[in-house]
Amino acid sequence: MDENVTTAVLEEWVRRFATLVAQNRDHLTELDAAIGDADHGSNMDRGMRAAVAALDESPPATAGALFTKVGMTLVSTVGGASGPLFGTLFLRIGTSFGDSDTASPPDFAAALRAGLGGVVARGKAEPGDKTMYDALAPAVDALDAALLEHLPLGAALKVARDAAAAGRDATTPMLARKGRASYLGERSVGHQDPGATTVALLLEAATESPF
Ligand code: ADP
Ligand code: MG
Repeated sequence: MDENVTTAVLEEWVRRFATLVAQNRDHLTELDAAIGDADHGSNMDRGMRAAVAALDESPPATAGALFTKVGMTLVSTVGGASGPLFGTLFLRIGTSFGDSDTASPPDFAAALRAGLGGVVARGKAEPGDKTMYDALAPAVDALDAALLEHLPLGAALKVARDAAAAGRDATTPMLARKGRASYLGERSVGHQDPGATTVALLLEAATESPF
């Protein structure tokens, strides 16, 4: 079975994510205007533009170097909650991939799970808190389950994308318990979480990349 993921494909994924974030910047900011401070779209767009510029400047040789660069760029260019949280997601993915230049589908799923672990370590979100966790955790679980059923990685990522989208939609009726949105209490109910929306874009980008 030659289904291994190369660093080049992973880089395409990151670049596609940056494009989707740019295209959805205003939408993400509108979502954050409803339950936050209207900066999530501009935060993520600024960070991912800087990440792409860093990749253009010196193309990384390994998956570890790729995600470490993206993570460090997000941490250093994005303030607020999402810089450290998305930064940690990518940094932990990078650490999980390490120095190898190809990864098997289970390696890929393990890297994503490591990233989820980083988000939890950093932000202490629990299921149902109305955060990016609520889209990311179902996606990681769905990816593991699909690979266990021997789906090829491309098909498994579509299952994970659908789980992320369902998780994103499920944040709407939730009461926010973490981050700025939690200050609103009951008034946070009825609005889709911006960070969960960005996670759904990350999985969408994966299905639009040549995995
Ligand atoms: P800020 O809230 O500092 O303005 P952003 O608007 O860029 O940062 O990002 C807000 C998003 O961050 C939320 O929609 C939520 O998904 C995510 N978030 C906030 N706090 C946490 C947390 N403790 N754990 C996980 N995700 C969080
Ligand atoms: Mg905000």
